Amino acid sequence: MRQLLLQGGKVVGVDTSQGRFDAPVVVSAQNIWASDIERWTGIATPVKAERHTVLALEGPQAYTYGMPVYKDLGSPGMLYCRSYGGRQMLVSEGTAGETLGTPDNEQGDVPMDYVAEVGAQAAKRFPSFETAGLASSWTGVYDVTPDWNPVLGPLPEVPGLVVAYGFSGHGFKLSPAVGRVLAQAALGLPTDVPLAPYALERFRGGRLLSGRYGSGAVS
Ligand SMILES: Cc1cc2nc3c(=O)[nH]c(=O)nc-3n(C[C@H](O)[C@H](O)[C@H](O)COP(=O)(O)OP(=O)(O)OC[C@H]3O[C@@H](n4cnc5c(N)ncnc54)[C@H](O)[C@@H]3O)c2cc1C
Repeated sequence: MRQLLLQGGKVVGVDTSQGRFDAPVVVSAQNIWASDIERWTGIATPVKAERHTVLALEGPQAYTYGMPVYKDLGSPGMLYCRSYGGRQMLVSEGTAGETLGTPDNEQGDVPMDYVAEVGAQAAKRFPSFETAGLASSWTGVYDVTPDWNPVLGPLPEVPGLVVAYGFSGHGFKLSPAVGRVLAQAALGLPTDVPLAPYALERFRGGRLLSGRYGSGAVS
């Protein structure tokens, strides 16, 4: 979609590389590219692209898929770990990543110092991983809001526009429920759960959502 089409402040369609489509309701679920909404509507869209690194560490002994997903809130990186099959464990941090100036999902560098630092944290809880090696690594980009929770539902200033962005590293597990409530909101039906807490207005009124264990704990 190149442009959201508005008439008298209301959504009337979209302009795309495949042509123009008329529509009274448009759902934007654009991940790190949600900043387009600000360009199209002038409404501040508090989302930044933040690059995060994931490591697959290979230890001396097998962890099976019976290993639970493990969140270590006591570690400096608020690590999360899970089995990656065989002798590998997937490890990443729940802390802030590298903020990017523009939305970009190109791979970033993974310095060996960083691998050693995160590996040492993992080994503190999984001592056999003191001798672990790096099997693979990659980076991905989160769409982060000021409270690490998404903005969901209709934007009242732009009738016809329904948004879902800012999943801040935890949008995959929420997707079935989010898809359902967004469809309900787009059709003007009551939603299974109230969307008011996830409204954009919370940032203007300083009503940020806060979890018991801090921002990264939700990832
Ligand atoms: C390293 C990493 C680890 C993660 N770990 C977890 C986890 O453990 N648990 C979890 O629940 N979540 C996790 N996530 C987050 C999860 O992957 C994302 O929240 C989720 O995949 C985002 O889905 P989405 O549909 O919002 O965005 P996407 O799947 O990116 O879909 C957005 C789509 O919009 C399209 N788009 C954007 N702009 C336009 C436009 N103008 N016109 C047309 N199309 C457009 C894009 O091309 C894209 O296809 C992780 C993310 C990363 C990067």
